[in-house]
Amino acid sequence: MEDFESLLRSSAEAHGHLCPGQVIGVRMAMLGCALIGLDDPRSPAQIKKLIVYVEMDRCAADAVAHVTGAKLGRRSLKFMDYGIMAATFVHLENGLAFRVVSKEEARDLAAVYAPEVAGKAAQQLEAYRRMPDEVLFQLQEVTVPISALDLPGPTRRKTACTRCGQIVRDGKEVETDQGPLCIPCARGAYFIALRDVTVREALSAAPSRSGATAGRP
Ligand SMILES: [Zn+2]
Ligand SMILES: [Zn+2]
Repeated sequence: MEDFESLLRSSAEAHGHLCPGQVIGVRMAMLGCALIGLDDPRSPAQIKKLIVYVEMDRCAADAVAHVTGAKLGRRSLKFMDYGIMAATFVHLENGLAFRVVSKEEARDLAAVYAPEVAGKAAQQLEAYRRMPDEVLFQLQEVTVPISALDLPGPTRRKTACTRCGQIVRDGKEVETDQGPLCIPCARGAYFIALRDVTVREALSAAPSRSGATAGRP
């Protein structure tokens, strides 16, 4: 594994800025990988051995993904929308798994670890570099039951929704009295459908580069 400073640099570059979350995320990932015995998680030899669960969609999540090489599209990165600054690192072969939780108290200790640094974010950034792991993180050894349908690899199952006909992959359909349904049909969706449109129709009504909206009431 690269050293902390070069990982922090490349992580900040990929994320778009250097922030306290990058420091937390890089350290979280380095610790998590070390705990399960992966010293170079992005290498071809190790990349398929790791699954990472992130529990927040904040700055640190990008750093965790960057350092570990875990990716949504490879199914090695799982997003659990808990709003908790934590990530779990699972070794698929030896079964080891650790949940690393960022301690809230560390925030209040920034002034203790970097008293000479002015500005809250800058002080946190520097303090989080200096704090020992035990001050920064709380650890849990855990076991993560992972369904075969959630593992990396080819699509294991495709099912058509009985109501709308949509193909649902990897067992994400919901079994009901009416047969298997896609999640939007079974439970409602995050979007509200207004109407079906053709690509041509939608593009001709799309906002122009000047920002004006054409063809809409
Ligand atoms: Zn950030
Ligand atoms: Zn459906």
